[in-house]
Parts: sequence; structure tokens; C-alpha cells
Amino acid sequence: MILLLKETTETRILRIADSLQPEIRRTFLDAITVLKRQVPVGRITDLLEEGKLTGVLEALSEVELTPQQLGGIEDAILQTVTLSAELTTAEFGLDFALVNERAVRYARETAGRLIVEIGAETQQAIADIISLSLREGVAPRQQALLIREVVGLTRRDALAVDRFLKGAIDSGMTRGRARDQADRMARRLLKRRAENIARTETIRASNMGTQFGWDAASDAGLLPPGTQKVWIATEDSRTCPICAVLDGNTVDTGGNFDVSEEATAFTIEGDEIVVTATRTMKRPSTTRTPPSHPSCRCTIGLEAFDREANLNQTNNVRLDEKNANPRPGIDDDPTVRRLANEKYEGALRKEAEISEMLAPITADTKAEYAAFSERVKFEGSIREKIVREMRDDPTLSFRQAVNKIRDENRYTVMWGPDANYRTNMLAYEKGVNKAGWRTIKQDNFWANDGGAYDGMNYMFQKGDDVFELQFHTPGSQRIKDQVHPWYDEAKLLPDGPEKDGLYAEIKKNVVKLWNLDRSHVPPGMQGIGDAKRKG
Ligand SMILES: [Zn+2]
Repeated sequence: MILLLKETTETRILRIADSLQPEIRRTFLDAITVLKRQVPVGRITDLLEEGKLTGVLEALSEVELTPQQLGGIEDAILQTVTLSAELTTAEFGLDFALVNERAVRYARETAGRLIVEIGAETQQAIADIISLSLREGVAPRQQALLIREVVGLTRRDALAVDRFLKGAIDSGMTRGRARDQADRMARRLLKRRAENIARTETIRASNMGTQFGWDAASDAGLLPPGTQKVWIATEDSRTCPICAVLDGNTVDTGGNFDVSEEATAFTIEGDEIVVTATRTMKRPSTTRTPPSHPSCRCTIGLEAFDREANLNQTNNVRLDEKNANPRPGIDDDPTVRRLANEKYEGALRKEAEISEMLAPITADTKAEYAAFSERVKFEGSIREKIVREMRDDPTLSFRQAVNKIRDENRYTVMWGPDANYRTNMLAYEKGVNKAGWRTIKQDNFWANDGGAYDGMNYMFQKGDDVFELQFHTPGSQRIKDQVHPWYDEAKLLPDGPEKDGLYAEIKKNVVKLWNLDRSHVPPGMQGIGDAKRKG
């Protein structure tokens, strides 16, 4: 087996990650410092004295990281992923512009995920502390101070501080001294968390940048056929049982590594990790690139394809007309291709007419398009969707499956955050109706809280043609953009419990993000359209 580029890629990924670590650590700590100052200690003390516990949680729900505060983290992640992708694309003589969009999306998505994770963890920690303190009769003022101190900590660390403080007081330490020591402990734990986040997210971004570069190289046909991606663990005292097993594993360059086993015994001999016993992990997962766990320092490299060894694994399963139960991802069956192409051509034809019809309505209502470039669904996405429909309902024929797709033309329209959506949407709909397209569906996802999507989705029809029109506020469009790529990775997985698990996890976070606050919902959305709840 010939190793390609292993040394350079590996050291480069680590070097880039290391150079941006301090930046991420500092930005995280700065954001938490700002956040702590927002904790209304006096108001919380009063609410605790009055026994208004939900009031406390409400007051604290306003204390949340905003994308602006974490903007620094997004910038640092963007720098990391960009640097890594730039060097990788350059290596193949490709233009970085090919992956720029992916890098930007990755940074935004990661910052969004961190906001959700940190916010949820803090809320949980505070709820725990309040209920514990209640049982143990801690003075309200003490509780309020402690709440401020644990902002930004993990739930486990926050509870450790809480336990320490109570233990110190119980053992006779003065309140003042116990407080000081607890504060110091909380600061130390926060620093450790910042370190952890910085390490994990820089290595992830640096690996992902390299991955994006390889994706582009693969798209351009620059990788030798069958080139594989190999997991490279950093062999040092910190090599962990999970990465010991992953070290040397190979998959297709675009594929996912299985993180399902950990070593129960291994030794490091020279530059080799020798695993002698393993066990199955409680929560197996898959990942495109390292890290596989917090503070992981693994990287990836390219390896030439070992044709002999892989010959038997070649997937030559094909769909045919009789096979009513297609396997996901196998969307290159001739029939699927033909039908998808037909649908796509139809969408292109409709696009010209619909865009022309909408232009004056958009101008008259002073609306703006969002994601206008996505008004025709990609042919590949149509193929994917046909396969998905048939998988969800194995009784469908190819033709029935393709007929279920009705959003091959989709427009998104929005106004400013202060616009009167009720009036504007009505005017817009009237314009479309007057042009001969009747409203056949109006799904109002804005009317309900707690779902996995928000917005107002219309479907219009004229003759046999339909198209979808979504109304969004700048806020809901932003969340939509943020959430969208989260599913990309899961889509690539084969069907099974792993994929279901990942989807469930993503969905949980998606629901959280849509419902962190509801400021992206325009006022007066109750009672119009058909109230829908997704999720
Ligand atoms: Zn690792």
C-alpha cells in the first residue's frame, strides 16, 4: 500500500488547529464573561425569596449567548477551516472559491451548534442547582450568586461547584471563604472547558477543511480511482481507547468512519498502536473526520486503494423496475434517472414562467427573495427524493414516487423584521391568484411553538403545474440556513439504527434552535392558514 501525502496532511492539520486554539479559547471566555454580567442577581434573589421558581428560569432564559457574542468563535472556526481547505485545494491546483461556500456554512453551523449546546447545558445546570438548593435550604442571595458563577460550565462541573460550596460550609468554613474558593474552582473549570472546546473545534475545523478540499479534488476527478481516507491517531500519552481502534481505518474519501468500538487493552510500539482487546461502545456513531471525542487530536490522510482487498465489498446492487424496495443512495438506476431528468426539465420550463409572473408582485409588495438560486431543485436532489419516497413507502411505483415531489420549483420571499406580514402575505397571494395560480395549500408553521420548522408555506396550482412559495422573516430564514447542513451528514448514512439515532439527535437540536426564542415569528400569525406543527 502506498501512502500519499500522509505526513504533510497530518502535520498540517495539527499545525493549523494549534495555531487557532488560543483564539477560540479567548473568544469563548470573553463571551461567557459578558454573559455572566447579564445575570440579574438582585432580581433572581427577589424571585427566589418569593418562591417564584419559573420566574427565575424565565429571567435566566434572557441570559443567552447570541450569534453576535459568539461571532468571534465563528470567525476563528472560519479561519481554521479556510486555511486548511486553501492549502488542500492548492495542493491539487484547484481554486479555493470551489469550497468557500462550504467553509462559510460549516463555520456558521458550528457556531450555531455551540450556542445551542452551551445554552442548553447552562439552563440544565441552573435548574439542577435551584432544585437542590431548595431542598437544602440555601439562602436566596447565595443561590443567585452561585447561579451567576456557573454560567458557561457543563452541568457536571456546575454541580461539582455546588457540592463543593455546600461541603465547605458544612465543614465549618466561613461563608466568605467558601464563596471565594468556590468562585476560584468555577473559574478553573471554565478555563478547562474553554480549552476543551478550543481543542475539539479547531481539530474538527482543520480536518473538515482538508475534507472539503478532497471533496473538490474528487469532484474534479483528481483523486486516483478508489483513493481511500485513513484515520491517523496522534500517538502519545493522550491516545485514547476509541482512537486506538480507529487508527489506520480506511473508508472512501467522501465516506464516514464507524466509531463503534473502543480498546480495552492497547500498547504503543514505535509509531504503531497495537490493540489487543476491544468492546462495543454503548453509543456507536459515525463521523466524516476526527475528532471522535472531546480533545481528540486525530487527523486524516489519503491512501491508495487496495483493489484486491476491496473487490468483494464493491456495491453493485442496482434498482430495477421490479424492485419496489430500493436501497438508499442507489439513485443511479436508469428509470430513476429518466424520471428525475423529466421532472427537472419540467421545473426549468416552469421556472421561466413563474419567475416572470412573480417579479412584479415581489416589486409591488416590496418583498425580497431569499435563496433565489434554489428556485429549481437540482436533478440529483430529485433523484435522491425519489429513492427516499420509495423507501418510506415500498408499495410506490417509480412514477408514483416522482409524482409525490411537488416542490421542484420553490421560491422564498421575505420582508424586513418590522414588516406587517399578515397584510403583505395576503397582498402577495392575491397577486399570484390574479395571475391564474390558485392557492391549494397554506401551511402555517408559525402558529405553533415547539416544532422543527417555522415559516408559512404555500402551494399554488395552474393546470397540471404546481410550485411552492415559502414566506420567511430574516430570522426564520437564518435559522433555516443554519439547520439545513446539519442533515447532510446523516443523509449519507445507510439505513439503520445508527442513522435513526443521528436523525433523532439532530432533530432534538433543531427543535431547540427554533424554540430558543420565538422572535423570528411575525406578530399576528394565529388563526391564518392551516396551523401545522412539524416535528
Ligand atoms: Zn482521537
